Amino acid sequence: MSEKYIYDLSEGDASMKPLLGGKGAGVAEMTRLGVPVPDGFTVTTQACIETMNNNGEWPEGLRGQIADALTRFEQRAGRVLGASTKPLLVSVRSGAVVSMPGMMDTILNLGISDESVDAIAAESGNERFAWDCYRRFIQMYGEVVEGLSSHVYEDALTAMKRAKGAESDTDLSAADLKELTAEFKRISNEELGGNWTNDPREQLFRAVEAVFRSWQNPRAQVYRKANHIPDDLGTAVNVMQMVFGNRGDTSGTGVCFTRNPSTGEKALYGEFLTNAQGEDVVAGIRTPRPLSELRDVLPEAYDQLIKTMRTMETHYRDMQDMEFTIENGKLYMLQTRNGKRTAAAALKVAADLVDEGLIDKEEAVRRIEPEQLDQLLHPAIDPNHSAAPVVTGLPASPGAGVGAAVFDADTAAEKGAAGEPVILIRFETTPDDIHGVLQSQGVLTAHGGMTSHAAVVARGFGKPCVAGATTIKINPDAKTVTIGDVVIHEGDQITVNGSTGEVFNGPLALIPPRLGEDFQKVVGWADEIRDLGVEANADNGPDAAKARELGAEGIGLCRTEHMFFGEHRLPAMHEMILATNDEERRSALDKILPMQQADFEAIFTEMKGLPVTVRLLDPPLHEFMPDLVTQALTVQELELTGADPGELAAERTTLAQVKKLHEQNPMLGTRGCRLGMLYPQIPDMQARAVVRAALAVFEREGETVQLQIMIPLVHLQQELKTQREIVVAAVDDELAKAGKQLDYKVGTMIELPRAALCADQIAQYADFFSFGTNDLTQTTLGISRDDAENGFLGWYESSGVVKRDPFATVDVDGVGQLVRMGVEKGRSVNPSLSTGVCGEHGGDPDSIAFFQTIGLDYVSCSPYRVPIARFAAAKAKLAQQDSAS
Ligand code: PEP
Ligand code: MG
Repeated sequence: MSEKYIYDLSEGDASMKPLLGGKGAGVAEMTRLGVPVPDGFTVTTQACIETMNNNGEWPEGLRGQIADALTRFEQRAGRVLGASTKPLLVSVRSGAVVSMPGMMDTILNLGISDESVDAIAAESGNERFAWDCYRRFIQMYGEVVEGLSSHVYEDALTAMKRAKGAESDTDLSAADLKELTAEFKRISNEELGGNWTNDPREQLFRAVEAVFRSWQNPRAQVYRKANHIPDDLGTAVNVMQMVFGNRGDTSGTGVCFTRNPSTGEKALYGEFLTNAQGEDVVAGIRTPRPLSELRDVLPEAYDQLIKTMRTMETHYRDMQDMEFTIENGKLYMLQTRNGKRTAAAALKVAADLVDEGLIDKEEAVRRIEPEQLDQLLHPAIDPNHSAAPVVTGLPASPGAGVGAAVFDADTAAEKGAAGEPVILIRFETTPDDIHGVLQSQGVLTAHGGMTSHAAVVARGFGKPCVAGATTIKINPDAKTVTIGDVVIHEGDQITVNGSTGEVFNGPLALIPPRLGEDFQKVVGWADEIRDLGVEANADNGPDAAKARELGAEGIGLCRTEHMFFGEHRLPAMHEMILATNDEERRSALDKILPMQQADFEAIFTEMKGLPVTVRLLDPPLHEFMPDLVTQALTVQELELTGADPGELAAERTTLAQVKKLHEQNPMLGTRGCRLGMLYPQIPDMQARAVVRAALAVFEREGETVQLQIMIPLVHLQQELKTQREIVVAAVDDELAKAGKQLDYKVGTMIELPRAALCADQIAQYADFFSFGTNDLTQTTLGISRDDAENGFLGWYESSGVVKRDPFATVDVDGVGQLVRMGVEKGRSVNPSLSTGVCGEHGGDPDSIAFFQTIGLDYVSCSPYRVPIARFAAAKAKLAQQDSAS
């Protein structure tokens, strides 16, 4: 017997989401609960996966199982697909495990045919309606299933309107539409070289096949990549009996959310259209009416809808996004799923559900997508402006964006990827625009409502969106938008405010965001759960202050290299590099010391009471010197112009030194602690500056930081031993001179494979390890981190050779193994060794999940990722508990 690929609605439930997809499991569950849902069946994701794995060939038995399921369905409905009496009409929709709104295909009204169209006309009492459905079906089926161009149909429609003297589609009569249908079929068959089918059963098979194929379409791929959804999940296919929202004024269709998906408020949120078919609301072609007006139009259906919304939300204990259709006053639910929401809404809904007793705090934390919190850290428009909006549309996705106007998704994608801020302006967005939305600062559309694709996609990506600005006139050919009497051309700056719906001509100033009460409440629960510490990478006072404000528990990495740059510091650094003996070197560094001390004081003042890990100088010295070619040209020019001999000699000396410092692979050369080994005056000076700053802050503030001094790029025990001795001697000397005492620690970065492999030797001289996973990835994989993004790695990622960028998400199998080994070996000789990560991975939720499993003590990331890391650490802990139980 072949595997079971089909489930009737009555056979499924919510727990079967992986097999039936979100939509299939959702409608099955609603059926189970007695909510009115049109009948049907679901083809499993497994069938899609097997088809994908078998180059598009269906698994054995699938065709027969679909045919059998259809027969059962026909018997239950008392109708037959495409029959001349009591015909059954169905919709065929995709439904992935993770919702991917609008990314894949839908076919409506399948079953309408030459045989059944008259019966449909008779049943609806409306011949024109029947033929309108039929011609729309041919077009939808032709485009979606057979891949024909919409122009083919639109040209025929235009020709028909011209021939009949009709101004709009609605001027065409039933007879005209009948003629148009025949024409549509003729051209479809011609385009397909005779391969068109009029048989509804065959159409059903091909529609299922098309839905499978649509899993691989480019927009679905872009969406999955952006949301880290695995490519191999596949989609289910839902075949359901059609219900008609376009049967006149007592029919309608709509979308509703049980809470506001932008703000999280517990308020009615949704839209509907009377006399309209399913996709009309989300496609944004007609601007829909607010749900509250349904009460006046169809009160009974409204009451039932509100009741169903409450039931489903309580059942799923989460905000639901639902689709419904009302046919002649009777309500049918077509879909329910956990609603996509902004980060602000996610926090509010989670906090409110805890207050309402529906979920506990742990569940609230589980519900937060850490990555999404990034949205909250986006800027808003500075309220101190006097600009008047040129138009106000619907506030479809909150936040503010400023950028150059662009009128197509490709240009938006291209310019946005090149770093130019752009605002994508479209009549309406379709799922095909997703790559452009992703690279834009904001989206503006003329049509579509709060639940249109544009709004849903923008909210999912945290992009500000103003939708349904109906008075704007877009000319995509001229690349202009006319708003009132203002004409905006491509490249002109505009500002959109997705929180209010306002659009401004020109760029407005933005202000940094603030984290509200809900954030503080829910992150507090996350902090109670997590055991990984969260620190920040910061190397100046303002960054340190921001990090602390966002909840950093210390500074895990203070890079000190920038403290050698600047007007007064660089000349002293040059002096140090050009020095011919230790004394000259020390005197050059003595000039830098007070400046570094001032920098440290600024940081320590912000971080009093918390640990601060200062890393000694790391980059190769050539970074502080002029570039080789430039210096050679300078010398050449002086030689040719017969300049002052003293100046020429000095430049020649610099050139000689630049040549001496030149290395083929500087990242594998004289950098990190190797500098401190060659020039011990450098760690000596830095250690003194650090201690003096810590003491000065104590003097001034009555409190100072917990000092940690960190040696970079160690691979030998001897390196750390020597560097530690230098640091300890300098610190102790400073303390003795000041007559003060201060606890401090000396540790090392583990960022070379040998350091991880020999961590037990190195740990003998370390109070702490901080894994520098940036360099550790570079040196373990042998991939230059500076060139990675533009090099082959991008291609590896897009073509699936690697699943994730290893510089963004830790390579668990390789680099991760070294980190694990480093921790184990280090602790084996030094049980009190503290361990953390300070590479970029310290702020990446998936990497944090791994670091939790190997028992690191803390992660350190850039200040703006601190809130994300706090949630990610809590979720990592919960996941660890779940897998242990
Ligand atoms: C690292 O290598 O991971 C690290 C944090 O150091 P840097 O990025 O400064 O090389
Ligand atoms: Mg490094």
